[in-house]
Amino acid sequence: VQPDVEIYIQSIYQTVVQRNPHEVEFHQAVSEFLESMAPVIKKHPEYQKYAILERIVEPERLISFRVPWVDDQGKVQVNRGFRVQFNSTLGPYKGGLRFHKSVNASIIKFLGFEQTFKNALTGQPIGGGKGGSDFDPKGKSDLEIMRFCQSFMTELYKYMGSDVDVPAGDIGVGGREIGFLFGQYKRIRSGNEPGVLTGKGIGYGGSLGRTEATGYGCIYFLQEMLASQGLELAGRQTVVSGSGNVSIFAIQKAQELGAHVVACSDSSGYIFDPNGIQLETVKQIKLVEAGRISDYTLHHPEASYYEGSTNIWNVDCEIALPCATQNELNEVAARQLIDNGVIAIAEGANMPTTLEAVHILLANNILFAPGKAANAGGVAVSALEMAQNSMRLSWSFDEVDGRLKKIMQHIYQDSIEAAEDYGFEGNLVAGSNIAGFKKVAEAMIAQGI
Ligand code: GLU
Repeated sequence: VQPDVEIYIQSIYQTVVQRNPHEVEFHQAVSEFLESMAPVIKKHPEYQKYAILERIVEPERLISFRVPWVDDQGKVQVNRGFRVQFNSTLGPYKGGLRFHKSVNASIIKFLGFEQTFKNALTGQPIGGGKGGSDFDPKGKSDLEIMRFCQSFMTELYKYMGSDVDVPAGDIGVGGREIGFLFGQYKRIRSGNEPGVLTGKGIGYGGSLGRTEATGYGCIYFLQEMLASQGLELAGRQTVVSGSGNVSIFAIQKAQELGAHVVACSDSSGYIFDPNGIQLETVKQIKLVEAGRISDYTLHHPEASYYEGSTNIWNVDCEIALPCATQNELNEVAARQLIDNGVIAIAEGANMPTTLEAVHILLANNILFAPGKAANAGGVAVSALEMAQNSMRLSWSFDEVDGRLKKIMQHIYQDSIEAAEDYGFEGNLVAGSNIAGFKKVAEAMIAQGI
């Protein structure tokens, strides 16, 4: 049976490549997932009978649209908008919107595919989706951002609804953008439907703890992974790439637990501060001034700035947290980290580690927490925001944070157990793929074709 199963899985991959030519990020995400599937398909022939793999790699629909807007000079600009509604088996499509110049169908599909399993892992009733635009927010005025968001929503609203599809933020989409998007949705639909978007401001239906959730959740997951080996975070030299929402709150929680965080980055380069990153300075530069991370050295002359964001992986550390973007940690970086004595890596971003790098890290017994498990805290708290909106009440920060922590602990347990059950002992990449997949697959079978 084994060779047949391998050939079957290979054929699924070939079909994805043929149907989605040149979409390398999507191929990569599917390939990483399929590497975990052989023992699952072997043990559950019904998955093959009901064509679960064939169905799960094909999005339910991909919406692609024009986003025209007027810039501050009065010139008309046109961007592309996307929403992939990947899988609604477990609940309304749920996943962020990314505004970044690199956005295309491949990026949105890889993100939507991963989101499906991530959302299943949270144990919350949410399906998988993702969206965004190739709009580049860098250097745009507030009013330009507002006009862009309004135009984007003027098309996207047709496909949304609090029981249909519930977008949120991702790279380039934070509280300000969600506010503009929400305002436009309300203007068009003329009614209050707070559960239609998450990551809203606290004053109009947002949840306490949502901003912190991805970064905090990543550290809670890391804590579980370390504790399984009798290890702790306290005192360990830590490097965190990025300096956006995920990175900032991962640093905050890591520092609270006693980690010595010495480096973080943006898309231009990274800073190294031997005294430990002063997070208030990073927040001021990145969240208030929308400046560059290099400005950090103006405030802390003992810190140094280096060009080239991915060179951050040359910094000596025991803990590495890639919290910036996809494929930021390649095999060269993985070998460098291993040479420098890294013990654990937890992905705060989506697919930040290349497949080759993942293979090297696992082969060297580095503790490795894949994004779809380790960064699930953001969307988990989004689901808690939806729940609060439905009940028309708001929980305290501690209530939300306590639930987040429990969810991350469950994801760790489910993933480590699934890995063991299917012969991937200690491999959280396989474990999280299998644990997430099985929840979706069982529900797909129950719901028919
Ligand atoms: N963009 C985040 C993610 O990658 C959050 C999505 C959400 O809250 O819906 O999971």
